[in-house]
Amino acid sequence: MVAEDVATTIRSWIESSDKVAVLTHTNPDGDAIGSSLALALALRKMGKDVQVVIPDGLPDFLRWLPGIELATTFAYKRDKAIEIIMEADLIFCLDFNDPKRLNGVGEFLMQSSAKKVLIDHHQEPMDFTDIAISETERGSVGEMIYLFLKNVLQSELLDKEIATCLYVAIMTDTGNFNYASSYPEIFHIVGDLLNYEIEKDRIYSNVYDAFSEDRMRLQGYCMLEKMVVFPEFHTAYISLTEKELKKFNHRKGDTEGFVNIPFSVKGVRFTALFVEKKDRIKVSFRSRGKFPVNLVASDHYHGGGHINAAGGDSFLSMKETLAGFESLLPVYAKMLKHE
Ligand code: 5GP
Ligand code: MN
Repeated sequence: MVAEDVATTIRSWIESSDKVAVLTHTNPDGDAIGSSLALALALRKMGKDVQVVIPDGLPDFLRWLPGIELATTFAYKRDKAIEIIMEADLIFCLDFNDPKRLNGVGEFLMQSSAKKVLIDHHQEPMDFTDIAISETERGSVGEMIYLFLKNVLQSELLDKEIATCLYVAIMTDTGNFNYASSYPEIFHIVGDLLNYEIEKDRIYSNVYDAFSEDRMRLQGYCMLEKMVVFPEFHTAYISLTEKELKKFNHRKGDTEGFVNIPFSVKGVRFTALFVEKKDRIKVSFRSRGKFPVNLVASDHYHGGGHINAAGGDSFLSMKETLAGFESLLPVYAKMLKHE
C-alpha cells in the first residue's frame, strides 16, 4: 500500500512534469520490460512525453510487446538515452534496488536533477530516489504497477495493451505462476487483467515458445551431458564453458532459465548454474523451500539476492569453481535435508 500523502506527492510530480523517463535494470527480464512499458503507456495516455530507457540487451522474446517503440537501449543509442535521462523532470526506477544494476546508466541517473521514484520488490533497496515504493513480498513489479495505476493514478488507464504488458511481467517473474505467487491477491490482479481481453495463451506462446534451434540443442546438451546431480544433498548443477557455448552458436540470453532445469529431477531443491565469461564465471543459484541461496552467494561468491534466487561470481577456473562448490555441499548438508 502506498501512503496517501506519498500518492498525492507523486500525482503532483506527474502533473507538473512534461518529460517522464522510466528506467529499468541491465539484462532486463519480462518483469523489467513489461512493468516499464505498462507504466509508460499509462503515462502517455495521461498526455505525458514518456520514454523508457534500458541499459542493454532487450531479449527477442519481448520485442513484440505493446509500447516497445517507447524504449531506447543505452548500449546502442547512448546519446539519446542520456538525453532522455538528463532532460526528464521525473524518473521512475523499476525492478532494481541499486543504481549499480544500471550498467553505466547509473551515473547519469544520479547526475539528473529529475525527481526520482523507485517501484521495486528486491530486498534492501539502496536509498537513491526521492520516494521509494518497495514491496519485497511481491512476486513481480508488474503487480505493483497494476496497483499503482489503480490506487495512485486513480483513473481508468488500464486497457488491453497495458494489461498485456502487466501479464507478461507477472507471468515471467513467477515462472508462469510456479513460484513467488502463493497469495490470493496476485490471482485477483491477473483475474482483472483478463477482463481487458488479453490473449493469455498467445502471450505464453510468444514468450516461452520462442527459442532458437541452437538454444534448444544447448539445453538438450546440458541435460544429457552437463547436469550433475547429488541426490544425498538434494542438489544439482549445470556448467558451461565458453568453448561449449561457442559450439552451440550461443547468443545472449540463451542460458536464461537453465538454472531451473534440474528442479524437474525429483528431490532436487538446490540448483546452480556456472557460465564461463571472459573474465569470470557467472554463478546463479535457485532453491525451493527454505534453503537460503542468497547466503551461499554472499558467503562464497561475492554476490547476493533473494532466499530462493541469487547469484554471484567466481574468479577461479571452471574446474576449481566446481570443485569448490562440491566441497560446500557437506557444509550445508543439514540445511539441505529440510524441505
Ligand atoms: P540470476 O541468477 O537470474 O542472474 O540472478 C537472480 C537474482 O540474484 C537477481 O535478481 C539478483 O537479485 C541476484 N544476483 C545475481 N547476480 C548477483 C550478483 O552478482 N550480485 C548480487 N548482489 N546479486 C546478484
Ligand atoms: Mn522483478
